[in-house]
Amino acid sequence: MQFDVVVIGGGLAGLSCAIRLAEQGKRCAVVSSGQSALYFSSGSLDLLAQLPDGTAVESPLAALPALAQQAPQHPYSLLGAARVATLAAETVQLLARCGMQMQGSSEHNHLRVTPLGTRRATWLSPQAIPTTELGGVLPWRKLAVLGIEGFLDFQPQMAASSLAEEQGVMAKVASLHLPLLDRLRNNPSEFRAVNIARVLDVPENLAVLTEEIRRQAGEAEAVFLPACLGLESDQPLAALREALGKPVFLLPTLPPSVLGMRLHQALRQRLQQLGGVFMPGDTVLRADFDGQRISGLYTRNHTDIPLRAQQVVLASGSFFSNGLVAEFDGIREPVFGLDVYSQPQREDWSRRDLFAPQPYLQFGVQTDASLRALKQGQAIVNLYAIGAVVGGYDPLQQGCGAGVSLVGALHVAQQIAMQEVSA
Ligand SMILES: Cc1cc2nc3c(=O)[nH]c(=O)nc-3n(C[C@H](O)[C@H](O)[C@H](O)COP(=O)(O)OP(=O)(O)OC[C@H]3O[C@@H](n4cnc5c(N)ncnc54)[C@H](O)[C@@H]3O)c2cc1C
Repeated sequence: MQFDVVVIGGGLAGLSCAIRLAEQGKRCAVVSSGQSALYFSSGSLDLLAQLPDGTAVESPLAALPALAQQAPQHPYSLLGAARVATLAAETVQLLARCGMQMQGSSEHNHLRVTPLGTRRATWLSPQAIPTTELGGVLPWRKLAVLGIEGFLDFQPQMAASSLAEEQGVMAKVASLHLPLLDRLRNNPSEFRAVNIARVLDVPENLAVLTEEIRRQAGEAEAVFLPACLGLESDQPLAALREALGKPVFLLPTLPPSVLGMRLHQALRQRLQQLGGVFMPGDTVLRADFDGQRISGLYTRNHTDIPLRAQQVVLASGSFFSNGLVAEFDGIREPVFGLDVYSQPQREDWSRRDLFAPQPYLQFGVQTDASLRALKQGQAIVNLYAIGAVVGGYDPLQQGCGAGVSLVGALHVAQQIAMQEVSA
């Protein structure tokens, strides 16, 4: 099977790279073994929230020179501040073309309200999530934070007490009594945000939800609900807001995350509309090399029939997605055996203090400044690495996971497009 580009991994990085390539007329295939980190994410996208030395970042783009000094191997430092700024702006446009209108800007981080009722700096958030400016406060004094009876993946009391403590709001707590969820509720493993959303998104059920919220929210100026609504589109939330006549927002729940899945589906649909091929449930196992070039990829489902492509993009994620594997004596990139940043001594991989930055989060594939993957110190000519599989940064401590994925994806898509023009 012949493609212009094969992307390994269908998470945020792989899908956005493939979309940008398909928009430029490339025939792309995305091979993806399983669920991506988006299924577990908040739905908000981080660009840069903190420097390695712990300094909080207000303006991600303005902080890039300081980041380059503190972390020269960070993917943003490899690409350079000007390029990151251009690509961050292009990212917002790409998401809009996928139907995802996000709030936020690259110039200034904003704060999103977390499921615990605290706030966290981020770059772009779905319109459904309550946010404030840095240093700002929520514009309402009386809130209703409503859970759903029997749903344990969101604790309204916890969210309400942090909101009251941190922002001085009066937050009424109640649980929505919704008999239409009884069938799901009877099976605790089924009573999850995604399945609830499938029921509540049905227009007739939305009317029942509206009445119950009206009953419970009373005089509240705004309503916060667990993100169990709007799996396919923003429409159910818009309808709810209109029917109630007051602001309604969603707070992320424990995974699976409706807000993250929504983004995944929007990206996947855009790729398929552009003619891209998505191969879910398949795994790239190994490659044939012709000198410093990859000449074929072998997958679990296609056995001995290789996928052939001019260019290959590795977007297989970190340990969480098996893009990296920790073995007793080292960290390995399992498909190509690429060079990996890591610590030689196992005891240096992690710190005992769970809340300290963990060294293993910076482990990952080494690349050159164009994000071409290195093997034995040499760049593989037609293999790029993007997203969480790449090393040299800490997505959690630095709050930059989605940004590195998206900016890297668009950079690589452009590199590939330019190469083909000049070839
Ligand atoms: C639990 C969790 C929550 C997060 N939440 C946030 C958040 O809220 N905001 C934020 O900015 N960042 C968040 N991050 C950081 C996150 O890493 C990035 O934001 C980004 O989503 C990573 O995307 P990715 O495409 O590089 O990797 P992934 O999302 O991990 O996707 C990699 C994909 O590759 C597939 N794959 C792996 N190996 C192969 C193979 N050999 N063949 C075929 N397919 C393969 C996997 O099945 C997976 O689908 C979170 C990370 C984790 C782990």
